[in-house]
Amino acid sequence: MSNMNWIILALLAVTMTAVAQQPASAPQNPQPVAATQPGQTAAQPSAAPSGQAQSAQSQSPQTQASLAPPTTMDQVVDRVIARENDLIKFLSPRTPIVETYLQNLTQDPQLGPIPQDDHYFLGRMDLSDSIDRSDYLQEKVKGEGEGMEKRLLGGLTKRFKFQYQPLGFSWMIFADRNNFDRQHYNFHYARREFLGDVRCLVFDLTPKKDAGRGRFLGRIWIEDQDFSIVRLNGTYARPSRNNYYYHMDSWRLNLIPGYWVPAYIYSEEGDFTAGAKNKIAFKAQTRMWGYNLKTGTANDELTQIRVDSVKDETPSAQDASPLAAEREWQQQAEDNVLERLERAGLLAPAGDVDKILQTVVNNIEITNNIELPRPVRTRVLTTSPLETFSVGNTIVVSRGLIDVLPDEGSLAMVLSHELAHIVLGHNLGSQYAFNDRMLFSDEATYQNLGFKHIPEEEAAADKKAVEMLKASPYAQKLDSAGLFIKALQKRAPQLSALLQAHLGNNITENGTVTRMAQLANSAPALDWNKLDQIAALPLGGRVKLNPWDDRVEIVKAQPVAITSARDKMPFEVTPFFPRLSRYSVASTPAATTAAAPTTTATTADASPTPTN
Ligand SMILES: [Zn+2]
Repeated sequence: MSNMNWIILALLAVTMTAVAQQPASAPQNPQPVAATQPGQTAAQPSAAPSGQAQSAQSQSPQTQASLAPPTTMDQVVDRVIARENDLIKFLSPRTPIVETYLQNLTQDPQLGPIPQDDHYFLGRMDLSDSIDRSDYLQEKVKGEGEGMEKRLLGGLTKRFKFQYQPLGFSWMIFADRNNFDRQHYNFHYARREFLGDVRCLVFDLTPKKDAGRGRFLGRIWIEDQDFSIVRLNGTYARPSRNNYYYHMDSWRLNLIPGYWVPAYIYSEEGDFTAGAKNKIAFKAQTRMWGYNLKTGTANDELTQIRVDSVKDETPSAQDASPLAAEREWQQQAEDNVLERLERAGLLAPAGDVDKILQTVVNNIEITNNIELPRPVRTRVLTTSPLETFSVGNTIVVSRGLIDVLPDEGSLAMVLSHELAHIVLGHNLGSQYAFNDRMLFSDEATYQNLGFKHIPEEEAAADKKAVEMLKASPYAQKLDSAGLFIKALQKRAPQLSALLQAHLGNNITENGTVTRMAQLANSAPALDWNKLDQIAALPLGGRVKLNPWDDRVEIVKAQPVAITSARDKMPFEVTPFFPRLSRYSVASTPAATTAAAPTTTATTADASPTPTN
């Protein structure tokens, strides 16, 4: 039984319901769909139109293309330097979201390095004058106060004990923000190499003798058309006594014409060879997204007012009955919350992944004869921590949670709990129908929004969910859901950051799984050595997040055979290895929505030469 295929199958199957759902507000088509049986055609990505569609191409920096191709390596280096400085200028007005998830490692004799504890950082990057980040979450370190140095170049400080600096993980977004030039670096051509579909020139970079601390040391990959850097791998030279630079592998994606934008950074430290005395061992994934989020507040408020004032779809000329008014009110709150989360970059725009989740929800609804006044919708939170919540009739599941679920049965388990809240009328969030409650800074989202149920509602939802699952097509697939709970239970004490919900209820309390825990009772024994038993997946394997427009899609990766217990890596951080390809209008769903590089691009065009 292949565990990797379920979501692709579900994607295929979803076409059938996608067609049936054309009138979006109509009741659901009453046909159960076996989401494990492939349909006939692949679902079409429905790229939603956006205001500034199509203009991206006309404003791409074409000056480079019109230059004569370089004939010597020296000329190539000049172009690389110019392109990097173009990118720095292009990104300088943007404040993408940056997320770092880190697992400290300990050596397990059977499983190799496994998580010992974890940390989570989420913030906005300011790329204007230097690289800075402002965090959504304040990590409190017990007994150490606020006295730690805040402005280290990167890495971590050793003053009291190892303490991670979130900024350090995003440092390798550029090779050198301020001095990427020949005065500070030696460029040594190494070889040619393909990264995915992209032919690259590979250079080793070393800082010059007197270049100072914190200079990039490592290798860069340059695509051979415009000479943009597409990957950086290395560290920073000459750490001081009290801080330390991580090793990093940083990847960029060609999501808009003319620019490769930083998307992923993998960091890893540690040595588990016999006799090694490592003080620190960790793996961390840093993701950037939300490059195209709107900034500023004046326009945001205008949008808000406009959306609310056009909302009158009542077919009758009558006033709403008290119950109808209550539902309208809930709907308004739901719309407000979803729009606000999307604007903050925390919710992916509606898309294909939602259709997969909705298919599973429909299957549970239909087989349980559930008829709701409005269809249940699903959306994806862009963040990694494992959480779900529902607002009005919309179920929201985090990207990280979808990543680690092994199969459709466990996905059904996750969704059934939230569906139960909706069926039982546990509506939360009606206070958000008041629009003043939507006016806060993106960084304050977690302080201003929350959808946590009381324990009694949680217990009732679990009970109802199990009932519904047993009457659903997933009744025979609950072993895997139970195994997932068991695997989560095994790792929960070490993964408190991954399991810290920021908007919904926690799945665990004090290191013990509480959500849907009864399913574990009937599940088979968890056995790491059983290679065909995949109880949970590593992070990052299912959902791909587009850093430019925040769209999510299902990763199309070939399943790789597991050959030992160490290959399972449940809930673990792994390196990134995206398949690089060039921007193309046809193949990129982002093409229609990627907003144009506006005035900044023009500025960059005008000065293709390095400024220093
Ligand atoms: Zn709940």
